[in-house]
Amino acid sequence: MRTLFACDLDNTLLVPGRERRDGDICAEVLNGKEQSFITPAAPVLMQKIMHDDDIIFLPVTTRSKEQYERIKLPVIPRYALICNGTALLRDGELSDEWEEHFDGIIKKHLPEAEQLLEKYRETQGVTSIRIVDGKFLFAAFRDSDTASEKFAEFAGETTLDIALSGRKIYWLPPGADKGTAVKRFAETHGCGRIIAAGDSTIDLPMLDIADTALVPDSGLAEKCRCGDVRVLCDGARFPDFILENIKD
Ligand SMILES: [Mg+2]
Repeated sequence: MRTLFACDLDNTLLVPGRERRDGDICAEVLNGKEQSFITPAAPVLMQKIMHDDDIIFLPVTTRSKEQYERIKLPVIPRYALICNGTALLRDGELSDEWEEHFDGIIKKHLPEAEQLLEKYRETQGVTSIRIVDGKFLFAAFRDSDTASEKFAEFAGETTLDIALSGRKIYWLPPGADKGTAVKRFAETHGCGRIIAAGDSTIDLPMLDIADTALVPDSGLAEKCRCGDVRVLCDGARFPDFILENIKD
């Protein structure tokens, strides 16, 4: 049976600069600065997964196409779900069919995202706020405490799905989440089993629908509705834990 390995990128497969350790390999450069890393063990583990015909490795990220394309992995995945699953890349090209499917859902909610953009544009502590690739609203704050405080305030002011991830807040069209997208991909690509890995609540929809969910802490595990949740063990690094669990 073919397995779909749906893997979030930031803070899941990719190590952010602030958590970099000796020997980590740079996977992303932004404005001349090294931004994201993979662990020293990741290249060999990823090669093994890529050479297994029974596994499809599918990066699933909220990143835009431009942000995704900055990442240089030691293997080139054939497919990737970007923009929180609402766009599918196949061999680097956007799928029109995928786009049309999700555009129908997104269009209904875009006017509200545009209104919120205007409303929150001048909010104190916001360092960036924009609509990503015409699909969802995103805001970054100066720190995670400010984001968390604002999240509590904003949550009651929208009909969109709102998610907090570190110092970022996302307003997402209901029905256009990572879980819906991963499920649709599995169905259309003959995958009978889904293993999903993610580190934040924005990943929950895909962790919930997976047969096996890989998470970094018990807090996220408690929120996850998957029947087989595996939590990172003490001392291990999350990317290595994920990649080592794929073959089990
Ligand atoms: Mg993440």
